[in-house]
Amino acid sequence: MKVIVATNNQNKMREIREIFGGIDLVSLAEAGINIDIEENGSSFVENALIKARAIYDMVKMPVLSDDSGLTVRALGGEPGVYSARYAGAHGNSAANNELLIGKMRGKSDRYAEFVCAVAFICEKGEFTAEGRAAGEITNDYVGGGGFGYDPLFYSYDLQKSFGTASSEEKNSVSHRARALKNLKSLLAENNIILDK
Ligand code: IMP
Repeated sequence: MKVIVATNNQNKMREIREIFGGIDLVSLAEAGINIDIEENGSSFVENALIKARAIYDMVKMPVLSDDSGLTVRALGGEPGVYSARYAGAHGNSAANNELLIGKMRGKSDRYAEFVCAVAFICEKGEFTAEGRAAGEITNDYVGGGGFGYDPLFYSYDLQKSFGTASSEEKNSVSHRARALKNLKSLLAENNIILDK
């Protein structure tokens, strides 16, 4: 089954490909689709559905989307659904990270979770799943690997920063890997088999 992945984020696309190795995934660029979808939902699941529906309406073939971000307990759940545009400019990771470091300065409760909601739409219907990874916000950057907030996230599962984890290590515990695993099980229960 060919599945269009409704994201322009190359880092997400790379991770989804690594995690979903046996599936025929097509990026928006490869499908010749150039679109910036307004993500105005109030939850990760809502935003994942907004993106998947927008693309499904265009292509009428199976679509997978990912909406994800970081929720920090001491900041009342910020940056949450605003993770990509925390500092204003969409996708400016450096500015987002600086803002987070500043807001967390002096805070003793550093608990945070990465959350990922995935949505899949095909002619059989709409399916959603979620995955989480727990950890703490570090005082400063640790490692330069991964993307986005990874260098500021100490993973409880790995006992190290996502910024120092290999992609295999991150994919073994990440919110994205867990969401995709949950989605795959849900789809299998509905007799939808994604593998090539
Ligand atoms: P969106 O899902 O396109 O709205 O953007 C999600 C944003 O959350 C990204 O731009 C990153 O800033 C952050 N994010 C999501 N997943 C990860 C991850 O695995 N590592 C680091 N940052 C992430």
